[in-house]
Amino acid sequence: MIIPKESKLTAVQLSALSAIVEEYDCKLQAIVGHHRSVYAVLGEERKTVMINRILGLDFIDRFDAVDSPFKLMDINSELAHHKIVLGKHIVGEGPFVIAGHCTIDPKNPNLFIESAHAVKEAGAKAIRGGVWKPRTMPYSFQGDDASVKILMEARSQTGLPVDTEVMDEHQLRIAVEAGVDILQVGARNALNYSLLKSIGQMTQNKKIAVLLKRSMGMGPINEFIAAAEYIAAAGNPDIMLCPRGTNPTMDGYRNYPDESITPLLKEKTWAPVIVDPCHSVGRAKYVPSAALAAIAYGADGVIIESHLDPQRGIGDDPKQSIKPAVLKQLIIDIEAIWAIKNRTVLDSN
Ligand code: PEP
Ligand code: MN
Repeated sequence: MIIPKESKLTAVQLSALSAIVEEYDCKLQAIVGHHRSVYAVLGEERKTVMINRILGLDFIDRFDAVDSPFKLMDINSELAHHKIVLGKHIVGEGPFVIAGHCTIDPKNPNLFIESAHAVKEAGAKAIRGGVWKPRTMPYSFQGDDASVKILMEARSQTGLPVDTEVMDEHQLRIAVEAGVDILQVGARNALNYSLLKSIGQMTQNKKIAVLLKRSMGMGPINEFIAAAEYIAAAGNPDIMLCPRGTNPTMDGYRNYPDESITPLLKEKTWAPVIVDPCHSVGRAKYVPSAALAAIAYGADGVIIESHLDPQRGIGDDPKQSIKPAVLKQLIIDIEAIWAIKNRTVLDSN
């Protein structure tokens, strides 16, 4: 990682630096942060002559070779203080709750808009709504391009950032052009490296965040962080990691609840952790406890399926969406656990 003396390099400095790293078969990747830009060397960065030539440039402050497989997502990387800003909030400063329908029903746009207002009133900081859905059966409702408009209408009426899942480049392009704030990579695509690279490239410098779900089959924590590294290496470090339950399932739940990996993630990476309790336990009645457990484990927030009238919902909503009134109480309880958690952190210092 190259750290310039000023907050960012000029175009002339950037091309001088690129010319050097390219001579050594490496590529330069600018990581544009809130306050400053840093520059990652992609490829074998430990070439002494290359490092010495870079350090010889009078506009370069430091060259930090990160001793970790994760050059960008590692807890000790230059991005350790990187902050993700969504709407009026910095993720990690207070619990970040994303809530809304699993799936937007294009036949009933008003219901989604009403739920969006209701989850905002309950205290959510961003709205979720599935435009396209990964369904087990090809005959089930697959989503509809037209629902992007409904999602963006909810954004403009509530003023909150919006989240939706994209599964391919066609959907990615539509979502980026529409101005979706958070792109969700679902559990089924968390290991789709081509998609992760495309997302990183297409969202670079666009102030779009990525919510990367943990895949059902992901074992080692490093595999999860490596998937995030793909997105960051392609250009966008605004990544939130989302444990959402794994397989084999726990008997009675939809998946095997995995909010307990949060402290392990936090030891290795600076990326915020936003837990999804709905897909983990899979039933509305279990969701509040799982969400509170996530916050107790140190998560920065949760993503919750919430619907004004779950029985009129489609996709996962009838079985695992909580009503906005339940969400409202849950957010009050989340704030309480958050306060205890932060007190504990202070006490242990
Ligand atoms: C969803 O969020 O509705 C979804 C399909 O999530 P996952 O990819 O975790 O199954
Ligand atoms: Mn869902």
